[in-house]
Amino acid sequence: MRNSRVARFAALTTISFCLVGLTGVAPAQARVVADVQCVDSQESDSARGGRGPDHRDVSAEEQKQITARAKELAAANTTAAAVAPVVPVYVHVMAAKNGITGNVSDAAIAAQIDVLNKTFGGTESSSASNTGFTFTLAGIDRFFNDSWHKDKQSSSYRKQTRQGGANALNIWLVDFSYLGIATFPWDYARSGAIDGVRVNYASLPGGSIANYNLGETGTHEVGHWLGLYHTFQGGCTTTNDEVSDTPAQGGSTNGCPEGADTCNLPGFDPIHNYMDYSYDTCYTMFTAGQTSRMQTMWTAYRA
Ligand SMILES: [Zn+2]
Repeated sequence: MRNSRVARFAALTTISFCLVGLTGVAPAQARVVADVQCVDSQESDSARGGRGPDHRDVSAEEQKQITARAKELAAANTTAAAVAPVVPVYVHVMAAKNGITGNVSDAAIAAQIDVLNKTFGGTESSSASNTGFTFTLAGIDRFFNDSWHKDKQSSSYRKQTRQGGANALNIWLVDFSYLGIATFPWDYARSGAIDGVRVNYASLPGGSIANYNLGETGTHEVGHWLGLYHTFQGGCTTTNDEVSDTPAQGGSTNGCPEGADTCNLPGFDPIHNYMDYSYDTCYTMFTAGQTSRMQTMWTAYRA
């Protein structure tokens, strides 16, 4: 599905499907599967983000309101413990009916959880922030349904299989044209039944998607689940992603272009940040500002 123009058509179809499927739950965020062999004149802005928008750009004003509301709620939640949450993780393996395709091993799932703990623990770079979040596997279930495997009827299958409360991370491992799609914490109250992240099973550590198979798509999507925008959200604006220590960025990164600087604003593009679209090998960090935002969001919506 990743090596032809037919594949591109499928990808665009999926984007339409996802936007329709997520009506009322937006802004959901997605990370699109690289389509590096689907070469045409627009290939230069392809890779992680694909050619079409994979997420709904909210207005700067809406972003501000979301951020301000979260801070109010977090301040009001005086019963929340110090923010070092242990997040229970339910992994739903959405395999094909043949029992083989997408039926990832328990070991691969354990490796994915390890990646979450390493990346959210700030261990991949000396400048990375330890976010304080840790993740513990709470359960694995397996389904053998070709439709679910292909992420069809995603709202339905999520409602039927989701486990835990607002603090529980549900990961559905599917095969679609994205690397992953996540819901935001501020949507939990109205859309809790579908809360969680959908991740391409082939992006797990050791998976088959070249350049995106170290499990860091999981990290990126969980970043959204904890309230982070892309580092390129809002483009070259001072508001950008509502996080002050991630330099503004004109668009998503393809690969790992050291020294890229797409905005006439302070700082190089944060290409090593998990909330960009860079290769997994290029990803090394969340910032202190992102940690602060995730903790605020946790206290406001998930604690
Ligand atoms: Zn994303």
